[in-house]
Amino acid sequence: MNIYEYVEEVKKGNVDLDNETAKVMEKVNKINEEYNYLNVVEKQHSGETTGKLSGVFVSVKDSICVKGMESSAGSRILKGYRPLFDATAVGKIKENGAVIIGKTSQDAFGFGSFSANVGLGFRVPLNPFDKERCCGGSSGGSAGITRKADFPHISLGESTGGSIAAPGAFCGVYALCPTYGRISRYGLIDYGNSLDKIGPMGREIEDIALALEVMSGYDEKDSTSADNEVDDYKSYLDKDVRGMRVGVIKEAFGEGVDESIRKNAEDAVSRLEGEGVKVKEVSLPLSLNYGLYAYYIIAPSEASTNLAKLCGMRYGAEEEIKGNFNEYFSSVRSKHFGDEAKRRIIIGTFTRMAGYRDAYYIKAAKVRTMIIEEYKKAFKDIDALLTPTMPILPPRFKEIEKLTVMQNYMMDLLTCAPNLAGLPHINVPFGESRGLPIGVMLTADHMKEGKLLQLSKELK
Ligand code: GLN
Repeated sequence: MNIYEYVEEVKKGNVDLDNETAKVMEKVNKINEEYNYLNVVEKQHSGETTGKLSGVFVSVKDSICVKGMESSAGSRILKGYRPLFDATAVGKIKENGAVIIGKTSQDAFGFGSFSANVGLGFRVPLNPFDKERCCGGSSGGSAGITRKADFPHISLGESTGGSIAAPGAFCGVYALCPTYGRISRYGLIDYGNSLDKIGPMGREIEDIALALEVMSGYDEKDSTSADNEVDDYKSYLDKDVRGMRVGVIKEAFGEGVDESIRKNAEDAVSRLEGEGVKVKEVSLPLSLNYGLYAYYIIAPSEASTNLAKLCGMRYGAEEEIKGNFNEYFSSVRSKHFGDEAKRRIIIGTFTRMAGYRDAYYIKAAKVRTMIIEEYKKAFKDIDALLTPTMPILPPRFKEIEKLTVMQNYMMDLLTCAPNLAGLPHINVPFGESRGLPIGVMLTADHMKEGKLLQLSKELK
């Protein structure tokens, strides 16, 4: 049964949802004990069984607010924070009858690519294929639970620079990051406001189409949400791909990309060609060579301003009040922010500072505009771009420990550019190497999520 068929059964009353929910919660607790995919396991259901997601189990990244459920973005500084409202995306999911099962583990605030930068007291999610390896990040818990769930399930992730596609690749699940503005950011604990996107993960491509349909749309509470009409995503799952045009980005097959991953992406290209897709090589030198660097200036610049509001005065961690405000502010933040958050505060404050701003933040913003133009030009005569999603297979934790900061950031080599340009992209699980999953990434022009679904289903 695919997800659409399951929901129909629930709507008809053919599923004993109370019984199913009890079984699922037990399973989730068990999986969680072993793999650490959720920071909070807690059920919420409105009782609604007529909506588009009736009876579907949904896990939500910790940085996306769920009313009354601890939402800490994986950081100790927000420990104990229970939002008084739902994020718009969560509200829509709930109204449509979904059963929320809890909050998923992540790199604190989304700062990372392995979900290993969790806040003090949080547990690191383990790869579903090999517990010595990471899930990818920053939406690692979401990808892991999606892979392990043998019940109808969707997870909500968030991507700033690749955090949906990356863990999707490492855990072998479909993971779609929509166009910036397609899904409201209201109720998302911000990382970088001009970059953040909420998006779905699922075991099957149908899960993605359905979740996208429910969550998309204009929201008056998010002034950056787009008022474009919501596409009929499901219809793309039946459309033929014959005659579609896919561009293979030359620069994404170069140095730093694992041989087995490169070869696997080439197999994906042949598969599409076999289905009648027209393939050509394209070059996006600016996006692939400078995207990462521009991203690692813009993202911390925005992050450092967003984190300024977290000082333990209104919500989250508290400390005994001693000294003046500055002293209190420093003591809470020194104690409860992790190393990576502190690093980003320092980098981001520097790149925005008078005297350096022109050389860093402003210049990166200009590069970003040029990257958008480069993509727009490419999309004039192609429908989607194809690259591997991640340059390497999921690494072991003991390998991660040895990486330098720059090597950590280099993981986002292939995902930063589409994120900077606000373009929709999807990880499609395709192939494997040494028992570990591999993903290919498809990127489309703004608002063309439908084409991603159409092509993804041919790669099954
Ligand atoms: N790895 C990237 C970073 O650390 C992307 C994270 C994200 O998309 N949230 O910034």
